[in-house]
Amino acid sequence: MQLLDSLLAPKADESLGQYLRRLRLHRGLSQADVVELAGIHLQSLGKIERGRTLKLNHKTCSGLAYALNVPKEYLESVGRGVAVDVPSALKFCPSCWTVGTAPESMWLDLRAKCCFLCGMELRHRCVGCQEPITSLKHRFCPFCGTSYQSSSSLKV
Ligand SMILES: [Zn+2]
Ligand SMILES: [Zn+2]
Repeated sequence: MQLLDSLLAPKADESLGQYLRRLRLHRGLSQADVVELAGIHLQSLGKIERGRTLKLNHKTCSGLAYALNVPKEYLESVGRGVAVDVPSALKFCPSCWTVGTAPESMWLDLRAKCCFLCGMELRHRCVGCQEPITSLKHRFCPFCGTSYQSSSSLKV
């Protein structure tokens, strides 16, 4: 949580469209970059940014959170007018997650402890240095270089 840039949290008076657009520009991404990373249609993103879509479905929400590298809860909280207090909620199954893909939304559920596919305990910290995992864009921990994915010697 402490690693997250407070600028990236939604402002109380910001609409979903304004927020997404601000994040996207902050990351220096074009709409085409974002839809590719998020796995959604360009038209969908356009509608959201123009304020014509006010509510995100789960898939879009997880995809955009991944593409823009913010916790899904930020996107969900936009428009509610409440300040966000988000624990570092990026969790994934080290066995089922594929490098370069968005994590399954069921892993990111705050209540989820184990993988719904294989039952393995979900991982939210680097097993090497215990730093919270804030991005799954990389396959290795930026602090110590440990691979985020499972290896047989790791005990979670
Ligand atoms: Zn799994
Ligand atoms: Zn590490």
